[in-house]
Amino acid sequence: MAKIEREKIRLGVSACLLGQRVRYDGGHKRNDTLLRVLGADAEWIPICPEVELGLGVPRPPIGLVGPRHAPRLVELESGRDLTVPMRRLARARVRQLARLALDGFVLKSRSPSCGLRDVPVATRDGRRRSGRGLFASELAHCIRGLAIEEESRLTDRRVRARFVARVRAAAQRRAKAASAAASAERTQSAIPTPR
Ligand code: SF4
Repeated sequence: MAKIEREKIRLGVSACLLGQRVRYDGGHKRNDTLLRVLGADAEWIPICPEVELGLGVPRPPIGLVGPRHAPRLVELESGRDLTVPMRRLARARVRQLARLALDGFVLKSRSPSCGLRDVPVATRDGRRRSGRGLFASELAHCIRGLAIEEESRLTDRRVRARFVARVRAAAQRRAKAASAAASAERTQSAIPTPR
């Protein structure tokens, strides 16, 4: 019996999780669990918003400061404000990603750019609050229905199983849509052109 090939899943990912040395200190955060669970089945689309913004490697550390719901992204030592350029980059990049029909996205947790929840925000009163990284925020806002998870949560077996099920279902839907489009195109080209 012919073996049925499983559709590869197409996943966006924070580049440092694949072992790319893109972090501010020149290091990476390779996530072996992620690669073990999904690596063989995945087509990875790696992104590092901070490198794409031209901040370089290594670079001064950055963080979120200000009100929790509208924090600014700044270089912690110099105070250089990167909010507007990062928002602009994130908007453009997310628009491109939307055209790739991703099945899911895995983000690096606690990053002021990539973190989805519990990213430290330094507020004026000196307290620490939790916020969301600017790239993650744009991604979650603009690609509705996309399965997005943080690497730190994927250590939980149930969270991981739910995420994997969602991305596999999305991959199957994408494959079906592509096959329906190809078959419609074949039918169209088989119709004789009227004279
Ligand atoms: Fe780059 Fe995001 Fe990783 Fe930071 S967390 S190094 S911005 S990919």
